[in-house]
Amino acid sequence: MQSRARVVIVGGGVSGLATAHYIHRQLSAGVQLTLVEAGDRLGGKIANQEFSGHLVDTGPDALLVRVPAMAALLEDLGLSDEIVAPASLGAHVWSRGKLRRLPTGTLFGVPDRLIPLVRSGLMSPAGLARAALDLVLPRRRTFAPDPSIADLVTARLGAQVFDRLVEPLLGGVHAGRATELSAHSTVPDIDRLARNNRSLYLGLRKMRRHSPPATGAPVLVTLTGGLGRLVEALVSRLAGDDLRLNATVGSIARDGSGYRVDLADGQSIAADAVVLATPAHATAGLLAELAPEAATVMAEIPYVDVATIWLAYPRSAMGRVLDGTGFLVPPEEGKLMVGCTWSSAKWPHLADDDLVLIRCMVGRRGDLRWLEMDDDTMVRQVHAELVEAMGLTAAPDHQSIQRWPLAMPQYLVGHQGRLGALAAATAHLPGLYLTGAAYRGVGIASCVVDAKRTAQDVAHDVPQPTADARPLTEVTP
Ligand SMILES: Cc1cc2nc3c(=O)[nH]c(=O)nc-3n(C[C@H](O)[C@H](O)[C@H](O)COP(=O)(O)OP(=O)(O)OC[C@H]3O[C@@H](n4cnc5c(N)ncnc54)[C@H](O)[C@@H]3O)c2cc1C
Repeated sequence: MQSRARVVIVGGGVSGLATAHYIHRQLSAGVQLTLVEAGDRLGGKIANQEFSGHLVDTGPDALLVRVPAMAALLEDLGLSDEIVAPASLGAHVWSRGKLRRLPTGTLFGVPDRLIPLVRSGLMSPAGLARAALDLVLPRRRTFAPDPSIADLVTARLGAQVFDRLVEPLLGGVHAGRATELSAHSTVPDIDRLARNNRSLYLGLRKMRRHSPPATGAPVLVTLTGGLGRLVEALVSRLAGDDLRLNATVGSIARDGSGYRVDLADGQSIAADAVVLATPAHATAGLLAELAPEAATVMAEIPYVDVATIWLAYPRSAMGRVLDGTGFLVPPEEGKLMVGCTWSSAKWPHLADDDLVLIRCMVGRRGDLRWLEMDDDTMVRQVHAELVEAMGLTAAPDHQSIQRWPLAMPQYLVGHQGRLGALAAATAHLPGLYLTGAAYRGVGIASCVVDAKRTAQDVAHDVPQPTADARPLTEVTP
């Protein structure tokens, strides 16, 4: 009998599940895999629930399918036929009392065409004139080691492009503030454009000429029945593995050439390799004794609380045509809402003859107002904002709120330095791997890319099968 490499994955979100999937692809029968999840279900931030007769996502609701690894994973899992493209296109920005069309073709708010920007009405004549200065300003020669997004964008395109385009988009995706976020870690394309071109606008146009975005194919998609399908499909591939729910890992310790994974209930699992697919704040606790320096760095990655609010309105209450996917709200507007998806218009499977389903996002770095509010107060406030923005004429028939404490990691200025420090602080721990949204991309597609890379590292490093069998056992203290 040959022994198999014993791999323990901590965390059953998409990062842990995808890592498990790719490890199987790499090592086939040569691995004995245990996945330990603190919660009572798998999927982590990917979650859904019944709402007004529909299954709705309470965490993420869209996938970036243009990332090749994401598309390949969907294909691999047999989900390609379940991909659903948005039925409506184009978002709005709620700016100065009106919903205004977000110009198409921007790269995180950096415009690549002037006419849609002018037509959007988002910019004042002075703001447009300031943005146009980007065409003539001299090339920037010096950069901070890790500039913020604000640092790169405002200097070229002015404060209005920053406040009314870049900030709302970043709020919607990262729940963060562009004055603090590292351009290199959060929007690497903008960082490259700024360093390699005199003008951001002309640089983006050149980039688009060389690699035009595929026309027709949707960028963000969901799956029939929502993103829970991705979790179900990943879990179905782990049949035969040791999947443990309601099992919280308390710490990781060295055990000979391998590790001992200690659970909060007193049990331990022996492992040749351990993958920590947990949020940085949780990982910091797990590594407090084994790698205290890494734990300190990990604890420096801040997280923002967010909430999703599902509201179902009678169709007759709509004060406007839902001509797009929804709208984003710049922080300068001072609203509670960060954004709002017109889900019934955006996703064909959420269309309803009688009701309009609307999903609002609350929570942005630095805005703590809503944390003190109870659910009803928060709904009243968000509803009042929807009345103002969309002219709604009735209260919602149904409401559902999902609060996500410590949900969105922030890649603040210095993030790459922190990743370097983490690598150095764990270099003496072969067989220990870190993956997840805390490091190299917060979106599901980025988590999948990182999971694939992690699985390749595990497959490369773990001991190959040998003649002396050492089965996966539970070591009780
Ligand atoms: C409201 C919201 C909307 C979003 N929208 C989108 C979107 O539309 N598109 C997109 O691409 N991304 C979106 N994201 C981001 C994306 O969902 C997450 O970044 C991603 O799902 C994180 O996956 P993960 O596996 O790295 O972490 P998680 O999903 O957080 O999983 C980590 C798991 O580790 C477990 N765990 C923690 N500590 C322990 C422990 N000690 N022992 C055992 N288990 C432990 C947790 O219970 C959890 O299940 C959104 C996020 C939120 C919150």
